[in-house]
Amino acid sequence: MTEPDLETCPGCGAVLPRSTGPVHRYIGASASCWEVYATLNGLGDPAVFLDPFNGLLVDAYAAQHVGVPSDQSIQSVAVHLLTLYGVILQGVSPEQALWLRTRAVRPGPIHKHARFAWLEPPDFTAGPRVIDVVNAEPQRRAAACRAYIAQVWSAWSRTPHLPTIAAWYERYILDEGTLA
Ligand SMILES: [Zn+2]
Repeated sequence: MTEPDLETCPGCGAVLPRSTGPVHRYIGASASCWEVYATLNGLGDPAVFLDPFNGLLVDAYAAQHVGVPSDQSIQSVAVHLLTLYGVILQGVSPEQALWLRTRAVRPGPIHKHARFAWLEPPDFTAGPRVIDVVNAEPQRRAAACRAYIAQVWSAWSRTPHLPTIAAWYERYILDEGTLA
């Protein structure tokens, strides 16, 4: 009997059969976890994505799979955290998620790479995991996706970084003057 060749996702701890597929340049996921996510997101299963909240899957996935510190990973995690913060805590409609994502990095006197800093992520080694959304019964998948997104945000919201995220939101999402 041969041992199955498994790999552990550095972002969510999912242990999956090793994939030879691509990994994202700065989202810190194993190739196998990335493939699971990209398939779920790419198929756009209407049972899952009819719920506009589940459009935040990309935000939750990126906020969970933070990768290693770089200008791109810092900006990506910040933008996706600001989007989750805006929808979940500030009552922005999930249909406005794209507005939140682009607004956070819109051109201004403070270069987008100078706006944000690396935030040490919460411990996601015990999940939640996108593979569990995919493995859920079809009729439970939309709820599982919702729960995944909510749990990723909930873990971040319990870190000491919440005031930093709130301050970024004030400055880069709400304030009309700062970047005008
Ligand atoms: Zn993962």
